[in-house]
Amino acid sequence: MASAPVRVRFCPSPTGNPHVGLVRTALFNWAYARHTGGTFVFRIEDTDAARDSEESYEQLLDSMRWLGFDWDEGPAAFDSASGASGGPHAPYRQSQRMDLYKDIAQKLLDGGHAYRCYCTTTELEERREAARAAGKPSGYDGHCRELTAEQVEAYEAQGREPIVRFRMPDETITFTDLVRGELTFTPENVPDYGIVRANGAPLYTLVNPVDDALMEITHVLRGEDLLSSTPRQIALYKALIELGIAQQIPSFGHLPYVMGEGNKKLSKRDPQSSLNLYRERGFLPEGLLNYLSLLGWSLSADRDVFTIDEMVAAFDVADVNPNPARFDLKKCEAINADHIRMLDVKEFAERCAPWLKAPFAPWAPENFDEAKWQAIAPHAQSRLKVLSEITDNVDFLFLPEPVLDEASWTKAMKEGSDALLRTAREKLQAADWTSPDSLKEAVLAAGEAHGLKLGKAQAPVRVAVTGRTVGLPLFESLEILGEEKTLARIDAALARLAA
Ligand code: GLU
Ligand code: ZN
Repeated sequence: MASAPVRVRFCPSPTGNPHVGLVRTALFNWAYARHTGGTFVFRIEDTDAARDSEESYEQLLDSMRWLGFDWDEGPAAFDSASGASGGPHAPYRQSQRMDLYKDIAQKLLDGGHAYRCYCTTTELEERREAARAAGKPSGYDGHCRELTAEQVEAYEAQGREPIVRFRMPDETITFTDLVRGELTFTPENVPDYGIVRANGAPLYTLVNPVDDALMEITHVLRGEDLLSSTPRQIALYKALIELGIAQQIPSFGHLPYVMGEGNKKLSKRDPQSSLNLYRERGFLPEGLLNYLSLLGWSLSADRDVFTIDEMVAAFDVADVNPNPARFDLKKCEAINADHIRMLDVKEFAERCAPWLKAPFAPWAPENFDEAKWQAIAPHAQSRLKVLSEITDNVDFLFLPEPVLDEASWTKAMKEGSDALLRTAREKLQAADWTSPDSLKEAVLAAGEAHGLKLGKAQAPVRVAVTGRTVGLPLFESLEILGEEKTLARIDAALARLAA
């Protein structure tokens, strides 16, 4: 029997900023859809009015577009200029599907799969304590499972407002996790659970599996933190199948935890986990995604750097490793640096554009010089870990004066640096300014005249001209800055040394 086409979903709640764990989940779903020629559904789980925000929703759309996760069905068009939005199961925002959930909750009640629970929080808490004290399972005890009409009437007369609870079948639930293999949950560990609040608001426990059913999701790939909800959802699915609402139970695959510093789970609130931070620092989406793909998966034992197309061609959720993955910022940066080098130089120059203007760039916009930028870009490309580093690397070209870094100055300007700089100035003035080699010869000769090797001789020149001891290749930098400015900066350094 041919298996049904793959339909996966990414279904974040719009609360706060997107974080890297969420991006990894989206990536694995998207890659699996693309690998299998399936459908990638993007759904917004915004049923918690107290926590969800429109701003966060907009940010999610923006992040998905930046990452390149083109969805096939979703709440808005992927390509906001030309693409179509929606899909056969629209709307894709749960806040717009409330009538549907209400209807299904009623069907679950009518079919006996759910019941009204009148217990108050205090009562639940007291009984939980008592169960704990007696060493018994402390989940919901089934108190309201079989209330008589009189009991219900009495509760109603007291003005109690019931929640709706799902009736877990009294049976062991076993399923084969795509990542973890066979998992078994016994009934005492999966008590009846709430699906609708007393105020009528449906809960995640209802709307998430209901939408997966209605949207005909075939594979649920999500974080390990949601594993405990899976047996409940499987039971709910069975009820939905009985009611003719669901066709089948999807396959589940739980992706490994992402660990941060000190082997603690990387939390949403951890600043290191905010996607926006990576964007602002100038990670390329392709670099970040390459790194995130390694959190639980690998292309091959000997290759860490690859393109998204290579990932898609190879990705199978069955190959995901269940062990927790450690987020290693250094490695993430190194992989990003590789992706920066892989860009065509013209593309590299374009991607740097945001960091070449306010608020990142310290120079006045009129001092930016496109020709100089095009000339220096190839020399900068191989040196950046993240694009935001471009600003400090090229500011000497666009600021009237270099930004003098005091530590660099102290390090480079030694006894005799003034004499060296005077000789270097003379030789540079006589050099051929159309050739970095000629400029190198000039500084080399100045060094020889003072018994210094090239490295030692060029340090004061570099600090005088760029303000720092480290930077882009020096002689190319001097050539692009030009003779007049270079010599004027050496003069200014000499004046400073004399003072
Ligand atoms: N909205 C849920 C969350 O963000 C989705 C969980 C799931 O993938 O099932 O946690
Ligand atoms: Zn109850």
